[in-house]
Amino acid sequence: MTLSHGREYLAIPGPSVMPDRVLRAMNRAAPNIYEGDLIDMVAGMIPDLRRVARTDHHVAIYIGNGHAAWEAALANVAGPGDAVLVPATGRFGHGWADMAQGLGVETDIIDFGKSTPLDPARVEEALRADTAGRIKAVLVTHVDTSSSIRNDVAGVRAAINAAGHPALLMADCIASLACDRFEMDEWGVDVMVAGSQKGLMVPPGLGFVFFSPKAATRRAQMDRVSRYWDWTPRANPEQFYQYWGGTAPTHHLFGLREALDMIHDEGMEAVWARHAALARAIWAACEAWGQGGPLALNVAAPAHRSHAVTALRIGAPYGSELRRWVQDKAGVTLGIGLGMAEPGDPAWHGFFRIGHMGHVNAHMVMGALGAIDAGLKALEVPHGPGALEAASTVLAQAAG
Ligand SMILES: *Cc1c(COP(=O)(O)O)cnc(C)c1O
Repeated sequence: MTLSHGREYLAIPGPSVMPDRVLRAMNRAAPNIYEGDLIDMVAGMIPDLRRVARTDHHVAIYIGNGHAAWEAALANVAGPGDAVLVPATGRFGHGWADMAQGLGVETDIIDFGKSTPLDPARVEEALRADTAGRIKAVLVTHVDTSSSIRNDVAGVRAAINAAGHPALLMADCIASLACDRFEMDEWGVDVMVAGSQKGLMVPPGLGFVFFSPKAATRRAQMDRVSRYWDWTPRANPEQFYQYWGGTAPTHHLFGLREALDMIHDEGMEAVWARHAALARAIWAACEAWGQGGPLALNVAAPAHRSHAVTALRIGAPYGSELRRWVQDKAGVTLGIGLGMAEPGDPAWHGFFRIGHMGHVNAHMVMGALGAIDAGLKALEVPHGPGALEAASTVLAQAAG
């Protein structure tokens, strides 16, 4: 039999669960795009977006996913003949580098593998060696969603400064914004990219590029930036359509307005603390399961783990079997392993991820963990006892 009837739960690392409030805000007739509510609403939304990014500077919005934001950010600061330095800690770091290569930008990749964070000392070393000044930017993935590694962005700023190098610091916060603490201005980040469908709890379709005055200066020195990617009119529109380079993404904007209200009503510090507590509960359960079987957290040190996604190894074929079981029998969809093995390789079936970003609370996390616990039992995957007890203990201590 199946026990999956009832509300389904998508526990993958994006798109994330959408709040009913966001869905309701989007459920409306097409609005006027020339005057009225929509225009007034957007002007007020820009400061609220800056507050989430912890910056006083600029934001350009694109109708696109995270890949669009990657390309938009790069197109404004680097072109053929330039180079970028990419300390990669998983599939997404390599993905951003690949996007740069597509623009004719040379990429110096430092590959830190799939389960350890980047080392700022190696970034500093690479920048010191760049005496010709080829490197225009350092591309850091704050949280690499494939490996669930969280990198030290401020540490990379310190490394750039120690090397006395003028490179821009660019951060991919697509998986971390409004989940893990991120301080754009305080950490000296010049360009930050994000998307609507993860911590921001809105459907996929909006890409955000935040940029500093230093990045704006770099943009002004570029020989050419394509009209559509140029962030200048989007960040300083004289007319409403210039925010979007065309028609506004009307319904996404109503959804985003609601999501920003939810985030700011809770408070950024509280949002980060909630994600941290829920993540600790998940880790506690995983550690208990791992005591008596093959399940293991991909990232050993808690300080280097994302609070929004947890990558796990369990050995083939258990990863795929477990995902199938919890979806078909319990109504919970877990994330596939990404970038850990090639599709087609039997080892590919030995990984999965739990997404816990955005609109997620204690009962949802306990529900997902309970479904996994039942799946391990039903599939007779060896595992240690006490996982749910360990998770609930963490939650009890956190909530007080
Ligand atoms: C999801 C994600 C992306 C890609 O976003 P898409 O919307 O799928 O294009 C890039 N980087 C990180 C860190 C992500 O989590």
